[in-house]
Amino acid sequence: MGNSHLKKFQYKGVIHIHSLNSDGSGDIDIITRAAKKANLSWIIITDHNYFDLREGVYNGVYVLKGEEISPKNENHYIALGITNQIEPDENPQKYIDEVRKQEGVGFAAHPDEYAKRNNSYPPITWNKLFIPDGVEIWNWFSCWGDRLNSKNIFTLAFSYFFKNVLVSKAPQESIKWWDELNLQKQSIVPAIGGVDAHAFKIRKYIIPVTVFPYKEMFNTINNVISLNAPLSEDFKTAKEQILNAIKNGNNVVINSTVSRAIPDIEITNSLKTAHSGEILNLDKKTYLNVEVNKKAVIKIILNGRELYECFAKKCSLLLTELGKYRVEILINNKGFAYSNPIIVM
Ligand SMILES: [Zn+2]
Ligand SMILES: [Zn+2]
Repeated sequence: MGNSHLKKFQYKGVIHIHSLNSDGSGDIDIITRAAKKANLSWIIITDHNYFDLREGVYNGVYVLKGEEISPKNENHYIALGITNQIEPDENPQKYIDEVRKQEGVGFAAHPDEYAKRNNSYPPITWNKLFIPDGVEIWNWFSCWGDRLNSKNIFTLAFSYFFKNVLVSKAPQESIKWWDELNLQKQSIVPAIGGVDAHAFKIRKYIIPVTVFPYKEMFNTINNVISLNAPLSEDFKTAKEQILNAIKNGNNVVINSTVSRAIPDIEITNSLKTAHSGEILNLDKKTYLNVEVNKKAVIKIILNGRELYECFAKKCSLLLTELGKYRVEILINNKGFAYSNPIIVM
């Protein structure tokens, strides 16, 4: 795939990782070696209430730091592009504002953890009275935690070994909320997908669930950013390219357990082509085009409502309405790709 006429440079990366500096299980060397093996170009490590990591290129992978601002029981906030550590607070508005003041961007983390879990891990949700800059629409570990059943050794073993079956789609509640936020705002409310690599400890049984290997986690939910130029070899410039792409929604959330290929999602008019997070004008030849490497259910969503659905490798739809368009792709009934909106005006 990867049409050269698009003149876009695409890079796969992972957001929302914990290291030994909070409740992760690896140091930067272990983490970046795993990232390299998973073919990632960049990663963002987001430890809880910690911001002392040294950024740079490790084992050929660009390593950026963010902070998961984490009050005890709710409202975790993934702060990216900030300059100083931000303290958690009972009132999330305080750190939402502080992230903006530092010209960063924040994402409500795992906003819809399931309240009635079949295990002893309390869900950490987001209070939706508070409006974040962006939304983590899919969090791998959190979705697994929602379905983890530790009632007995059989259900626990099932939960562990069949996690790719259990975690099948981005939570509908989060997608719905993200659509609503986009309806309320003129510009794009960006979305990310996170893996949330924690060290999850279950001591009661002999199942080896103390550590999730980073490499396995890195092959789950990825973000593919699209850039107008190749990632710079200069770290500072590359960092800016990655952060700007995420801030603007120039990324597609991909579930790599379903397919390792990158889908093409674009809107073209007679003059130009727009990708996730971009804007273009409606004319009489405005088409939304999607191409996937295998047959998939392709859904086109306009302003939060489904406009069109097809089952194909390729689809093209003539657009006649203004608004925010986004695409969801399902393969074998599993969530494969979620684009950020493209604005047609
Ligand atoms: Zn969290
Ligand atoms: Zn986390």
